[in-house]
Amino acid sequence: MTVDVSADGLPDQLAVRHANLTRTLRHIRTNGPRSRAAIAAATGLHKTTVSSLVEELLTRRLVRELGMDHSGAAGRPGRGIALSPHIGAIGIEINVDYLAVHGSDLAGRTVYEQRTGFACAGRDVERCLDDIAEAARRALAHLADRGVTPIGVTAAVPGLIDVTRGVVVLAPNLGWHEVPIVDRLSHSLPPRLWIGVDNDANLAALAEHGSGVAAGTDDLIYLTGEVGVGAGVILGGRLLRGADGFCGEIGHMTVEPGGDVCGCGRTGCWETKVGLAALVRRVTPDAAYGLERGPLPDPQDRVAEVARRLAAGDRTARHAVTDVGTWLGLGSAILVNLFNPRAIVLGGYLAALAEHIIPAAQAALACRAVANPAARCHFVASRLGFTAAARGGAGAVLDRVIEHPTTVPVPPPVPAVPVR
Ligand SMILES: [Zn+2]
Repeated sequence: MTVDVSADGLPDQLAVRHANLTRTLRHIRTNGPRSRAAIAAATGLHKTTVSSLVEELLTRRLVRELGMDHSGAAGRPGRGIALSPHIGAIGIEINVDYLAVHGSDLAGRTVYEQRTGFACAGRDVERCLDDIAEAARRALAHLADRGVTPIGVTAAVPGLIDVTRGVVVLAPNLGWHEVPIVDRLSHSLPPRLWIGVDNDANLAALAEHGSGVAAGTDDLIYLTGEVGVGAGVILGGRLLRGADGFCGEIGHMTVEPGGDVCGCGRTGCWETKVGLAALVRRVTPDAAYGLERGPLPDPQDRVAEVARRLAAGDRTARHAVTDVGTWLGLGSAILVNLFNPRAIVLGGYLAALAEHIIPAAQAALACRAVANPAARCHFVASRLGFTAAARGGAGAVLDRVIEHPTTVPVPPPVPAVPVR
């Protein structure tokens, strides 16, 4: 931990206090509810300091007191301090054919989950943003009704994101270019909310790293399995962003020069081989993306139809899914050669069809990855479904709360009831 030092050489007391508040919250998040004495023993902070920190965290409603903690800390047991279910956040994922909204609280409970069909491509961006704001408002109201104070919203978008400016620089499959989504949502949502935007694969990777099937694996790559395919790369427990924050646009890596036209305008991109639109075009050509009249079918329904055909022994479906697996392994070998991950977590539709896709993918990976330890990199199917990025979006706000606890306002005191 580094602590700011003021001009006279003394540590900035406020900075120390902030760092210790975060340290206390992190300790409870990692280890579960703990008594004040147990927190002091584990963090090395003085007991009276911990008591004062916990008092502030209680005032800000970031923690709550439970029953007695007998977890073995020295001294007599005290009341357990747990992360609060009264503080929450929203993640909202904007994808080609759906809008997914997830709300969770600081205690880790899912408070809200909603996924609706949503078509962005070809529509006026302003109208789309109105709909997105409306979906966020509904989720915020739902949290408030359940006694959860929402602190912020993160939008998850499949594309190049300038996180600092809060701008979607380019989302090829949505047809978005330079969309100032954070500014726009800030004007449409209630004041004092923290609003951010990030790439969908980055947020899903963070969700997986925190609580998914590969939780605790510090070197993992998450692949989205939507119409587009993006990667969230976590190495040494940290998300890789790159110089401009555009790391992970793996779906647009050329694997077949002169191949099919991609949503980005180029040809032969990886997602023209392993994206959901490519699979649907082969297995159910009558229902291919772009042919819809009326509302877009839910991606889960499209995948269910492919699974039904596989179960019925449909050869076209079997060949198509095996090809997806082979192309997936081929592209993943490049990722493995570059990053040496321990796990590649498959999201979206790739997870839903994992049992059919992984064998071919693992075989292609074993052939193509140069280092033999590639055999120690395995594909695993995410269990977070199509809402992983939205879940990661809510998690990003809650992580921010843990890192900057004093940004959470102290609620006004409850007025005393006059005695009659
Ligand atoms: Zn492309």
